[in-house]
Amino acid sequence: MKKTVICPGSFDPVTLGHLDIIKRSANMFDHVIVGVLVNSSKTPCFSIDERIGFLKEVTQDIPNVEVVSFDGLLAQYCKERNVDAIVKGLRAVSDFEYEFQMAITNKKLNPQLETIFLMANSESMYLSSSMVREVASMGGDISNFVPKCIHDRIVNRISNLRNH
Ligand code: ADP
Repeated sequence: MKKTVICPGSFDPVTLGHLDIIKRSANMFDHVIVGVLVNSSKTPCFSIDERIGFLKEVTQDIPNVEVVSFDGLLAQYCKERNVDAIVKGLRAVSDFEYEFQMAITNKKLNPQLETIFLMANSESMYLSSSMVREVASMGGDISNFVPKCIHDRIVNRISNLRNH
């Protein structure tokens, strides 16, 4: 039977760490949905369309990846789309407690749904979107943190925010 997983997140913006998790998921499962959260409590830096556009661009060569936005409960969305498992990246022990709580909550809401954790790789385990935004907003070099093809647009966008 075909296995579908979802990689959820805010992707504000997508980093090489996210991309690593998406690629590894695409190697293991038949279909990977990259789900961009619309109703996050954080005020995003990049609009939902920008975040989706970046993700589509950086995953365009991976045929079994689909990029969508979703609103509301992840467990509910997974039911509607027949998702077998949520795949999350774990960077450090600090991610664990929150992720553990989320995984149990999602299992209670949708008992069919598994959560799978992939260890971040050693090159990107320190990376987060907020760190990328912070470094870029202070004029630092983010070329090792984000995919090359979207690098300039991220830098321009964040420096515009800084100058206005
Ligand atoms: P961030 O914490 O960077 O704002 P998101 O909320 O978009 O990220 O996270 C989406 C998913 O991607 C989460 O499962 C998170 O653990 C994972 N993730 C984020 N950054 C990395 C990374 N550098 N390596 C592995 N997984 C990551």
